[in-house]
Amino acid sequence: HAARGAGRLVAVWDGESTTLTVDDLELLADLRTAADRGELWLAYQPQVSAPDGRIISVEALLRWTSERHGVVSPGRFIPLAERTGLVDRLTDWVLGEALDAQARWREQGVDLTVSVNVSPLSLRSVDFGDRVEAALAARGLPPGVLMLEVTESMAFDIPEAVERLGPLRASGVRVSIDDFGTGYTSLAVLPQLPLDELKVDQMFVRDAMTSRASEAIVRSVCELGHRLGLTVVAEGVEDELLADLMTSFGVDLLQGYHFARPMPEDDLVAMIELESCSPLFAADAIEAAD
Ligand code: C2E
Ligand code: MG
Ligand code: MG
Ligand code: MG
Repeated sequence: HAARGAGRLVAVWDGESTTLTVDDLELLADLRTAADRGELWLAYQPQVSAPDGRIISVEALLRWTSERHGVVSPGRFIPLAERTGLVDRLTDWVLGEALDAQARWREQGVDLTVSVNVSPLSLRSVDFGDRVEAALAARGLPPGVLMLEVTESMAFDIPEAVERLGPLRASGVRVSIDDFGTGYTSLAVLPQLPLDELKVDQMFVRDAMTSRASEAIVRSVCELGHRLGLTVVAEGVEDELLADLMTSFGVDLLQGYHFARPMPEDDLVAMIELESCSPLFAADAIEAAD
């Protein structure tokens, strides 16, 4: 329920309160039913292997094309959903959609990992792991095709992350820390986390060319990640110079507009079909056949 006061409303759910504007509330009311109206969809952005540019995974990014509000960016509606407990339902929807897509790709012989963003708040639910495992099992998918990206934000609770993600990772699901370097994870706890991947925050990637500090951070994250046996991803790679720089630092996977923007599933499949016809890929295939 909500109480009015000077253009702002205090909404209470689960015993916690948050301040929302009237606009926020309208948006939330529509977001609640957006999936039913078919207004939500997933865009997929490729992640390419740094040495050879081959697409080896994709990140699923939630899109909301609202009849009433137009295109609403996740930067706007995800934080709102997080503040009001709606984010759990979104997480389940995204997971279901991404795994449906994953099942279709596998049928077509396309071998990709799909990364799904999970709000650290979703890790509060004790049944989170069960829901993920059920979603995989319902589609007969091996756990290794799924990567969970958890943002290293203020809401990221270490014991909770270990408890929820540990068993999942033991079952084969992969785990990534998103926006790494911006949050509050102390280096000491990193080895305790059930992890496969670090995603260096775009801010450091973008500045790495011009700022010594950002360059040092990206290099250090790379070295740290590799020493801990983790894959290191750079996101926000917008041009070739940055791609080359990241590759020279030893980054394993690159993601950014230079390679591809987030796109609808059909475009992704077309792109991958095109790639599999490329001379580079064909040469590999011939070598493998020998
Ligand atoms: P993120 O997970 O760090 O995703 C990367 C963001 O960077 C995406 O923005 C992507 O479109 C954008 N990006 C990729 N390459 C480039 C580039 O070269 N340059 C620039 N400037 N941007 C690039 P997007 O799709 O707007 O998503 C923003 C954030 O919203 C995400 O950041 C993530 O935290 C959140 N989000 C998106 N989808 C979901 C979801 O399904 N669940 C949850 N919980 N959060 C989501
Ligand atoms: Mg992400
Ligand atoms: Mg990120
Ligand atoms: Mg982010």
